[in-house]
Amino acid sequence: MALRPLLRPGSVVLRRDPSHLQIGFSPAILVRDRPDLVAFLHLLDGVHDLPGLRRAVRRRSLDVGDVDALVLELLARGAAIDPAVAPDPAAPIAVSVLAVDPHAQELARAIGTVCGERGRRRVDGDTLVVAVCAAEPSRDAVDDLVDRAGAVLVVRLAQDTVLVGPLVVATRSPCLRCADLGRADADPTWPHVLAQLERHAGPAVAPRAHRLVTWQSALLVAHDAELWLGGVRPSSLGAVSVVGPLPGERSRSTVPFHPRCLCSLFPAGS
Ligand SMILES: [Zn+2]
Repeated sequence: MALRPLLRPGSVVLRRDPSHLQIGFSPAILVRDRPDLVAFLHLLDGVHDLPGLRRAVRRRSLDVGDVDALVLELLARGAAIDPAVAPDPAAPIAVSVLAVDPHAQELARAIGTVCGERGRRRVDGDTLVVAVCAAEPSRDAVDDLVDRAGAVLVVRLAQDTVLVGPLVVATRSPCLRCADLGRADADPTWPHVLAQLERHAGPAVAPRAHRLVTWQSALLVAHDAELWLGGVRPSSLGAVSVVGPLPGERSRSTVPFHPRCLCSLFPAGS
């Protein structure tokens, strides 16, 4: 792909002293001034490639010397970027947010808004599926979704808190059933309670998480999704974060593979 240099986004070109320009102010990048450099910097718009810059310099009779060497110097100094290499930090995060039950709609909308996603329902390998539930989801349904999507981040509203995780990756990470089996080891009544929760399509009375807890959870989900899609281990892989009930509160507990869960028959890649 052709190099189309772009002046560092958000920066302004200022004069530092008679022989130096300052590009940006946080941090300031100093470059030695030379004739017509300011005019040249304004050509770095992410559209002109190197031949286009050379033509523009000739057309405007700019006296900046070797264009290629100047561009390389500006890239090396951080005064310009290559948009094809530097990801756009404002680009939407590729998630498909599924509201599994009606009470999950508000949190699902917040997650979609933070991720820059609206209403997309496509499920494919380039998209992380976020399943938002206001109760314990059917484990069979989650298994089916993981089979189809490859990875599913489970988000549950639990009264006035939000549980973010685990991120279930087919054959590679502890699953919800691992969490259930671990919980049942400590609380033998959990399978009985869970069976009842799974049969309900959500609580009879809508959960009421603090508005800031909703958005704090949405930010955590978006951050984890971005990490995962970028090939970096997110906090929700093999773990559940409890957000709330007060804004700013967050705790995290790990979910290990359970020896009696079928998923632990596969090699752990996490
Ligand atoms: Zn498992």
